[in-house]
Amino acid sequence: MTSGTDERTDLKGMTLPELEAFLARWGKERYRARQLFRWIYQKHAGDFAAMTDLSKELRGILATSCRISGFPAERVETSADGTEKFLFRLEDGEAVESVLIPDEGRRTLCISSQVGCPLLCGFCATGAAGFRRDMTSSEIVQQACFAAKRLAERGERLSNVVFMGLGEPLLNAPEVSRTIGILLSQFAFGISGKRVTISTAGIVPEMMPLALKHPVSFAVSINAARDDLRSLLMPINRKYPLRELVAEMKRIPLQSGRKVTAEYVLLAGVNDSPEDARALASSFRGARIKVNLIPFNPHEASPYRAPEAEAVDRFREVLIAGGVQTITRERRGADIRAACGQLRGSVHKYGNI
Ligand code: SAH
Repeated sequence: MTSGTDERTDLKGMTLPELEAFLARWGKERYRARQLFRWIYQKHAGDFAAMTDLSKELRGILATSCRISGFPAERVETSADGTEKFLFRLEDGEAVESVLIPDEGRRTLCISSQVGCPLLCGFCATGAAGFRRDMTSSEIVQQACFAAKRLAERGERLSNVVFMGLGEPLLNAPEVSRTIGILLSQFAFGISGKRVTISTAGIVPEMMPLALKHPVSFAVSINAARDDLRSLLMPINRKYPLRELVAEMKRIPLQSGRKVTAEYVLLAGVNDSPEDARALASSFRGARIKVNLIPFNPHEASPYRAPEAEAVDRFREVLIAGGVQTITRERRGADIRAACGQLRGSVHKYGNI
């Protein structure tokens, strides 16, 4: 929680119980942590001087030994459809991206959890740029802090967060879990668990512990109905094959009426045939799983193509006929390379974006 040059403890990124324990060392009451949470995450305070409901003594202690990290976006790009892409420079010079997507009443932020990604899925630009490191909870939550402050200035509220930016959240589960705690806390962002979605390539052993800890929504990137094809597209399938992954999706505890999302990137001529759709429908039949079809978003690091609209519709119809709730995800922000699978953000690639 301290950076190389700054030895002060960063309060941003601590969960409420961690902050309570931290303050208890100075004999401070638990409600002080809730006050700090409100200052940091609801009032966007960057220093302790403004925190007038804390005693002068406590403000003095905090100012000498603690800090509240925070960085603005180094670059903001706005799509013709209103989607905004933020590039954040981290304290060590690395960079990540987030995407803010307005959609009727919703304001959804797509956030990153790792700098780059180690999974090397063949269709994804992030993997092609390589893996640099895990992000800390303070870096992950800062993306939401920046977006929430920007929205507040327009009289709007951050309503949804999806972990679909750079990285595989379940390979950084401890920091992602702490971030979720902050997003869900009523003293911070107060976002309901059903509006926070963890998207995973299928790190099977990490799914249940997180689901039991936080009542969040899960999306699983399936992308193929057969192991041979899925292993080709997503090497992680060799470690956690489809049967184990789908069984775990069926075990995830859900509130009534909720479903686990299966994301399926449609690649022309690769995984978009009616037989693929039938195989998918048969493995999901009767389960509380819904499918989100994502027509491939092209980028130069990938040889794949997007299917024709007819192929997308046909695929969807086969799934629906097989009893599986299915929607096609609308492409947002493609003109600024903010669509699914187009985010990179790592420093060495930044010049080419
Ligand atoms: N690592 C996580 C989250 C990041 S990817 C995961 O795998 O789920 C977020 C979603 O974008 C995934 O469903 C992924 O399959 C999809 N995606 C990746 N590259 C894409 C591309 N080029 N076009 C469309 N969707 C893509």
